[in-house]
Amino acid sequence: MYIEQGPIRPPSEASSLLIRVTRNCPWNKCAFCATYKGKKFSRRALEEVMRDVDTVHDIARQIKLLSFQRGYGGRVNDSVVREAGARYGHLHYHVAAWLYFGGKTVFLQDANSLILKAADLAQIIKYIRKVFPSVERVTTYARANTAARKTEEELQELREAGLSRIHMGMESGCDAVLQVVQKGITAADLLEAGRKIRKAGISLCWYIMPGLGGREYSREHALDTAALINQVNPDYIRFRTLSVLENTPLYEMMRSGRFTPLDEDEIVREQRLLLESLQGVTTTVVSDHILNLLQELEGTLPGDRDKLLGIIDRYLALPPGEKANYQLGRRAGIYSSLDDMRDPGRYSYVQRLLSSMGGPENLQRELARIRRQFV
Ligand code: SF4
Repeated sequence: MYIEQGPIRPPSEASSLLIRVTRNCPWNKCAFCATYKGKKFSRRALEEVMRDVDTVHDIARQIKLLSFQRGYGGRVNDSVVREAGARYGHLHYHVAAWLYFGGKTVFLQDANSLILKAADLAQIIKYIRKVFPSVERVTTYARANTAARKTEEELQELREAGLSRIHMGMESGCDAVLQVVQKGITAADLLEAGRKIRKAGISLCWYIMPGLGGREYSREHALDTAALINQVNPDYIRFRTLSVLENTPLYEMMRSGRFTPLDEDEIVREQRLLLESLQGVTTTVVSDHILNLLQELEGTLPGDRDKLLGIIDRYLALPPGEKANYQLGRRAGIYSSLDDMRDPGRYSYVQRLLSSMGGPENLQRELARIRRQFV
């Protein structure tokens, strides 16, 4: 049994069933992105996608049968998940893990599902919900210009079919930055798309990339992004800090001096400027990507504003040696929050790593190398 799946999903969709409705990215030119480089975009035929949904249904039945055979009465527990994976392979593991988490969420891949005709996408979503009545949330990625081209009626149709949330790579609200990184969208596209999506009653999650303006546009990047968020009031903003990958145009720009990356502290200061510039929004801030230095930077505005700024200020006030310890500990997966530094065992382990590295320059190089591995 086989279904086609794409390479990525948002971090928050880790327990979602992945159904691929298009392949790769129709734009594929963003200077920082290597996810689909060299791969051609195509739409999948409706029947093919429906067949994948049927296949998942068959697999789910097989997994439930396995559960009955093991005396678990059809319940999918961790031992059923493990056995399904060991006996039948990765796809069974994926479906079993999805059932283990309640079979509640589905993510439609790849980079821009809204490029499909609204009626076709609505048909797919309805079919998924019919075959799996347990599904409570269906989400997808969409590019801003594609979403902006959809009519209000089309977005309404998608919402009624059961599209719950759109994850959108905003990256920046600053036109100069969007242009430098060849995002192929403008702040006006983001504004129109955001307003239409919100009006249709679909939840909107904007991904923001701290550091994307480099030293050249850091301030404009923060202020213009905040201004756009203030106008649209998205349900979520998610930070996903820039990591300049070797096989991307941005890497070449960096080498030739046209793009100057920010260091860890400059990125955190940029995030502070953005957050302190948000006004009149009820957005939830999420920082669940491994690339973010301050993963604990999470909360809902306006109530958590002081808490968020306080986390940043606490980090920025650390003496240089403590900052270096935190940066390395976080990047090496030893810390997930500033409080983790209080654990003497972990702290001294990171100190030993630090001293084996020999100097701050080596540390910055090592941090950049670790960050590249996370993408
Ligand atoms: S639109 Fe998204 S997937 Fe496509 S190239 Fe840009 S960042 Fe990558």
